[in-house]
Amino acid sequence: MDKVITSTCVFTGLDDRVKPLAIVVRDGRILQVLERNRVEQLEKKGYLIEDWGDRFICPGFIDAHQHVMHAALFPSDIAFEYLGTSEDDYVQYAKAFADKHQELKWVIGHGWRDNLWSDQKPPTKKSLDNSIPDRPCALYSGDSHTLWLNSKALELLEITDETTPPDGGYFDRDSNGELTGVLREAAGMKYITQILSSLDRDLLTNAYKQYFMKLNKMGITSVSDVAISLIPGSDCVLQDIYLDLLSKEQLTVRVHLYPTLSDDLDNLNLMQLQVDGQMISAPGFKQFFDGVSSQHTAWISEDYANARYDGDRGAPTITFERMRELVMLAGLHGHSVRIHAIGDKAVSSCIDIYEEAIERYGRPSQGTYTIEHLEDIDPSQIKRMADLGIAASVQPPHITIDTEQPLRDLGKYRQDRMWPFRTLLNNGVNVAFGTDAPVVPPNSLEVLWCATERSHPTSHDIFRGGYPEECLTRSQAIKCYTYGSAVAEGRRDIGVLAAGMLADIGVWDTNLIDCNSEELLQAKCCCVYLSGSKV
Ligand SMILES: [Zn+2]
Repeated sequence: MDKVITSTCVFTGLDDRVKPLAIVVRDGRILQVLERNRVEQLEKKGYLIEDWGDRFICPGFIDAHQHVMHAALFPSDIAFEYLGTSEDDYVQYAKAFADKHQELKWVIGHGWRDNLWSDQKPPTKKSLDNSIPDRPCALYSGDSHTLWLNSKALELLEITDETTPPDGGYFDRDSNGELTGVLREAAGMKYITQILSSLDRDLLTNAYKQYFMKLNKMGITSVSDVAISLIPGSDCVLQDIYLDLLSKEQLTVRVHLYPTLSDDLDNLNLMQLQVDGQMISAPGFKQFFDGVSSQHTAWISEDYANARYDGDRGAPTITFERMRELVMLAGLHGHSVRIHAIGDKAVSSCIDIYEEAIERYGRPSQGTYTIEHLEDIDPSQIKRMADLGIAASVQPPHITIDTEQPLRDLGKYRQDRMWPFRTLLNNGVNVAFGTDAPVVPPNSLEVLWCATERSHPTSHDIFRGGYPEECLTRSQAIKCYTYGSAVAEGRRDIGVLAAGMLADIGVWDTNLIDCNSEELLQAKCCCVYLSGSKV
């Protein structure tokens, strides 16, 4: 039966205001959006009316960048999430978790950031060996670029002093050349994937299901699950779990899969054959051009402000020539690519490559070329992005992870041009919002807060770069988080409330456009509709 979802406070995403409207839904799609005063008439005609009074209605939020497997696990019954204040504190927490969960073979955790700890030094296996000597322990850093293992884990993974790290990866060693148990970039990614993939499939599927219900409670109806590693096969994008959940009618979030880009396009080709294209789609690939600025692995055009040596300016994870080859191959087949690029040199190189791909093959036939994170961007590159239709996929809560860090590592000149959300929009760049969960929690209200306030949601510490000129309005922020993300995923059927679109809708107890800042973080999602059905 056709239904009508209505309230006095509907934000369609087509303009900047809320209005009294009635959304007519048939077979999961929006048939019409009418004035609310038409409801009585529709009720007489036999439509089912779902009247939300003065509650706020908007398109379902779309998180355009997540690593779902990690986000679903950290935290869950199988693994913990913790930041800690020092190495000792972290080890104590891990030990308490291990004691409480004797049933788990591996002690797995995520969230440590040595740059935020009291002594700002990388941890080592020694502290873990003292507390947890007989079970393997794997602790993944908050930025998901570094893995900290104990000796038992090194042993099980068969990593010895003689093992060579994979390309783009590093092992920390002490002054004697012995492994410290810290694995960086591609090495961390490779081994954490190996560990997580060995977990029981049913436990994992259940963790995904619970996680999606958590996202629904935050008004989220769609995500991109992007490769977490540049190594094919270690991307943690598991289509089987989604297909399983879909067949059991337990998939409550639309997903867009982006496996790792390599010479072999079969991982994507196979996914595209298996998925339905509506609940699950696979529009393209993900790759990595650099790391993160807090570790000096982001690729920038000059030395870091606190350079540790001459020429300390990061480096590409994959050479320019190799990235070019890979993107041309994807472009030739019409597949979109999303590239992690944080430093200005990585960002401009990425634009150069996309430009050539577009000149040769046109824009991707599905999805959109995007740059992920683009934290430090040379302003002269912004217009190029707009002209080429390259989307900026950004994560507003990242600007408040450590509000002092950009100044420390990148200096004032770079800090002041970072995360220029408003400048990107003003220049006509499509901006998509996400969280990069589990790097930060996938909290929708914190996304809106950080984009509009540029301060930490709880401590209110302000990120000073581009502040306050780069603060968005609520309407702009919600549009990035709905329509902007949909465009990045190449979707033309979600992201606004208009005739012909899928009826993915969030209902909130608070007017997210007009409420004051304090009220924003208190807002509660009453319900989400996915294809017009209440989840
Ligand atoms: Zn990411």
